[in-house]
Amino acid sequence: MITSFTSQVVAELAPHVPPLPCCRAALLEGMQLTAAPDENDAGSELSTTRAVTARAALQTLHADHRPAHVERVRAPRRSRYRVVAGGKPEAAAGDGSCCARSRLRGAFLAGGAVSQPDAAPQLEILCASSAGAEWLCRDAVGLGVSAVALTRRGRPLLAVRSAEGVAALLSSIGAQTGRLRFEEGRVVRDLRSQVNRSLNSETANLRRTVAAAVLQARAIRRLSDDQERWQALPPALREAAVLRQRHPRDSLDRLAGRAGCSRSAMADRLRRLLVTADLDGGRGRR
Ligand SMILES: [Zn+2]
Repeated sequence: MITSFTSQVVAELAPHVPPLPCCRAALLEGMQLTAAPDENDAGSELSTTRAVTARAALQTLHADHRPAHVERVRAPRRSRYRVVAGGKPEAAAGDGSCCARSRLRGAFLAGGAVSQPDAAPQLEILCASSAGAEWLCRDAVGLGVSAVALTRRGRPLLAVRSAEGVAALLSSIGAQTGRLRFEEGRVVRDLRSQVNRSLNSETANLRRTVAAAVLQARAIRRLSDDQERWQALPPALREAAVLRQRHPRDSLDRLAGRAGCSRSAMADRLRRLLVTADLDGGRGRR
């Protein structure tokens, strides 16, 4: 589910190096929680397919005055970027909300994905272990985001599946532009479903109107073909039949206006025409 919106959010988050040493450690920690262990990556801080994420890790390490560089590992399908560093972090990551945000941001930078703003809301961060997914989940819940840690096809992940949750998580990790775009997409999505609903109901109404008009025309033909029955009709019904025949496209209101009766009286007359012509499907006799 790597969408173009995912890339936009990653690009928005990547340039910001946390100002506090504890949060810089948390950012790298979050990135490492998502990396699947690989024997080729031994000795590196991070291995990722996202060049922009490798660069963000490098800047964070440099802000800690640690010697670090990125190695590009060419692979048949997609190159990987290994971030190799020396030295020690200036501080350890904490459990406060500053570090929780940074950890989630690092995790999203390395393993996060979010659906397009006008699609069903969904944000996921693939993790290397269930413990990692649960840790990120605690961070998210602590920040007021409804997230769950789960496993899909053997792969642990953090998942957020509500529009409120996705919006809150984007804000929490510092993707304010991403959050705005997400909210806009939500409006578009809601409007689109409203329009679809009303189009569907209009189509259904139109279909009912056409079906009724066809049935009425048939009833009137059947009655007028039989002079005896035609003459036996109450005058109000005969008038309604003649009016309907002359004005097949009239709405019930217009037809009632022509007859000088109420809408419900006209509806009743047309219904009785169907009953008299045995075209009401037996409903009138109940
Ligand atoms: Zn911190």
